[in-house]
Amino acid sequence: MLSSNAVAEPADLAAVTPSPERLARGPVAIAECFQQIPCDPCSWACRRGAIPPFVDLNQRPEIDWELCNGCGVCVSACPGLAIFVVDLSRDPAVVRLPYEFLPRPEAGATVTLVGRDGCALGEGRVQRIQDGRVQDRTAVVWVEVPADLAMAVRHIRFGGNGQ
Ligand code: SF4
Ligand code: SF4
Repeated sequence: MLSSNAVAEPADLAAVTPSPERLARGPVAIAECFQQIPCDPCSWACRRGAIPPFVDLNQRPEIDWELCNGCGVCVSACPGLAIFVVDLSRDPAVVRLPYEFLPRPEAGATVTLVGRDGCALGEGRVQRIQDGRVQDRTAVVWVEVPADLAMAVRHIRFGGNGQ
């Protein structure tokens, strides 16, 4: 269950987080989609079958992390901005997150890393911006983050200093 302020509880997150071994192996998608809503574009978007077709449109996505190669197509396909790709095999780690604001940050920019509750967590660097081809061109921002923040950073703000 989500808390009253709609921030995921640790138990919610544990249920959608790959094993440490899988996380260490390379990029993998994490669907932080906690409510039963009639929505399934993530499943249609994944050409590897890592998000199996929904039996019930209201069901929540279940990602097969062994099939997922972290391509990130589902990130821009999700209208709920609920999917992220985390790559802990790199140093620094990389989080790919959906971004629908304009202007977009530029590659190389220093940004403030933001957690699920909107609070600043520190500073990161934008590595790349990927133009989404679906969902009205939702962009995917690749941001370099300290490894210990990779499971916490879920948004960015322009400008550094981590405040
Ligand atoms: S990251 Fe790619 S392979 Fe993994 S679930 Fe999303 S679309 Fe499928
Ligand atoms: S597309 Fe996004 S919001 Fe819709 S079911 Fe998939 S993860 Fe949830």
